[in-house]
Amino acid sequence: MTARILRGTETSALIRDELRDRVTALREHGIVPALGVVLVGEDPASVSYVTAKAKGAAEVGIDEETIRLPAAASELEVLQVVRRLNADPRFHGILVQLPLPGHIKSERIIEATSPEKDVDAFHPINVGRLLRGEPCPLPCTPHGVVQMLVRNGYDPGGRHVVICGRSNLVGKPLAAMLIQKRPGANATVTLCHTGTRNLAAITRQADILVAAMGRPRAITADMVSSGTVVIDVGVNRIPDAAAPKGFRLVGDCNFEALKETVEAITPVPGGVGPMTVTMLLLNVVEAAERVLAARGEERKTA
Ligand code: NAP
Repeated sequence: MTARILRGTETSALIRDELRDRVTALREHGIVPALGVVLVGEDPASVSYVTAKAKGAAEVGIDEETIRLPAAASELEVLQVVRRLNADPRFHGILVQLPLPGHIKSERIIEATSPEKDVDAFHPINVGRLLRGEPCPLPCTPHGVVQMLVRNGYDPGGRHVVICGRSNLVGKPLAAMLIQKRPGANATVTLCHTGTRNLAAITRQADILVAAMGRPRAITADMVSSGTVVIDVGVNRIPDAAAPKGFRLVGDCNFEALKETVEAITPVPGGVGPMTVTMLLLNVVEAAERVLAARGEERKTA
């Protein structure tokens, strides 16, 4: 059997269409959703992520402004920019592109960002709200994974989801989302890591398998069952002399082998990656919608 290929580019395009309509509705109420991006230094990967975010924002009608600081900028200078964006009502979302240069503590910058404008959902207050099942911005990559599943007809409710990787960026927040007692979640979750014994015995039990390890092609065909839906979050560079840049991108799964075995699988690139940017745009739109709703509440009480 050949697996169904779940393309993030397609699912993402559908969601961006919906976002465009929501942005139009906000603009009709005089609110232009805006994202402030802080880029420190000129790391090529960070520059390319910021470019993709700016392009995505423009595509759905979100205003975007990138504030560029030199790699030598002090922590205080970065904090001052974040505080200025916090205080500026024009911006609904703030994103500080990580990683930051080594002399700047990312935690301090994240904690200085207003939780209401924290569109990456990294602020400890939002992490706590997520775990408690309270309303909060959802972290972009885990939310992208959930949307890929739900929008392609694979509701995680009642399923055994095995997540390989327990990072604060992907594995842990994804587990926190999927264990909630609500539609689009309500799964039984197993979280695996390097301390997990006999990983293959666990991954073979998965109805849904999420690979987020940063290990090229670590999930092999003998580690999955035929009915499994596989979401590959991994993005790894491997040398390829035939490629123009001398490398190409592969996921954490052996895609070619797994696609002959499993029910469905996401490719790399073109799988979870585009969804991550789209979920960021969604968080900006939702932050702007909260401002509109608060305005309505103010009018009611005036
Ligand atoms: P990370 O911080 O390095 O975490 C990797 C996790 O995988 C750790 O929990 C580690 O376990 C676990 N792990 C590593 N090797 C393992 C193995 N052989 N067996 C079981 N568990 C193993 O990585 P991350 O930031 O979560 O990113 C993971 C991958 O996703 C990377 O390739 C990254 O580039 C990609 N990514 C993609 C997107 C996107 O938008 N598509 C977004 C974010 C990340 P320990 O905790 O025990 O060390």
